[in-house]
Amino acid sequence: MDARKVIAVQNASDTLVKRLVRRRKRVEVKYELEDEAGTSPASQEQEATAIAESNGGSGSGGGGDGDSIWEPPLWKQVLENLQTMRAARDAPVDSMGAEQCMDQGAEPKVYRFQVLISLMLSSQTKDQVTHAAMTKLRQHGLTPDSLLATPDATLGELIYPVGFWKKKVVYIKKTCEILKRDYEGDIPPTVKEMCQLPGVGPKMAHLCMDIGWGKLTGIGVDTHVHRISNRLGWTRRPTKTPEETRLALEAWMPKELWSDTNLLMVGFGQQVCVPVGPKCGECLNKALCPFGRNALLASPKKGSPRKSQKRKGQE
Ligand code: SF4
Repeated sequence: MDARKVIAVQNASDTLVKRLVRRRKRVEVKYELEDEAGTSPASQEQEATAIAESNGGSGSGGGGDGDSIWEPPLWKQVLENLQTMRAARDAPVDSMGAEQCMDQGAEPKVYRFQVLISLMLSSQTKDQVTHAAMTKLRQHGLTPDSLLATPDATLGELIYPVGFWKKKVVYIKKTCEILKRDYEGDIPPTVKEMCQLPGVGPKMAHLCMDIGWGKLTGIGVDTHVHRISNRLGWTRRPTKTPEETRLALEAWMPKELWSDTNLLMVGFGQQVCVPVGPKCGECLNKALCPFGRNALLASPKKGSPRKSQKRKGQE
């Protein structure tokens, strides 16, 4: 990007910042913690709308109106900063995430099954809890046959307290039946078929294809990737769902970066760009990130306006 474009982007952003500061004085935005992984849909939408305005977009969705060359301003520098901040790889997801829960010595078919089960358990669940449940399941015997032979109540005890554990017992049992019936106990070989399993959506399917089959079919977008992408302005327009964000990211991001994007951003979202009270003051992207600039301008002394709100709420 040449100097004129950088200045133009900066000017547009400054205008937006002033507007947002005025709006902030009128309206106190209340942030609601949806779960450990994400902000409430309403707050994400507010963030997304603000960022998209600074990018010159409107409405929802990614990609472009026939303009296939759009890419976020200075995204390479932003990415480099993300990689620097994540160099230690010491977030919970790095040691206890769904990718760390399988029996590395298992035969490929069993390994793939364990990938699928760990991803099913990880939805709406902290990594520590997923890891503990997977450890218990592996000790119990983690194959379709062993789970089908396990009473529902016992399976529930093994995976408790993962999020929606009762529903997941049902999903896992049904999935095991389908895998036995249609795939000889293996997991489906395509995203489309994977998404037909109960409780499996695009995020799980793409991660399963990548980790289980070694095929890169798409970016695994969860609430962390969704939230951070919108805060950074990495979608041309605001996106309302992780699936919209996936399409918006894939529209411009080079494919060789897709595989690491989930782990990179999830860990960053656990440690720095958290759902409520992101630590913008200590973020290397604070001068490049539209959301971070807004937050710091609105509350320059505290580094993050919502940090102080959270503290007050905890007292
Ligand atoms: S500046 Fe703040 S909102 Fe932007 S990426 Fe960094 S922590 Fe997240």
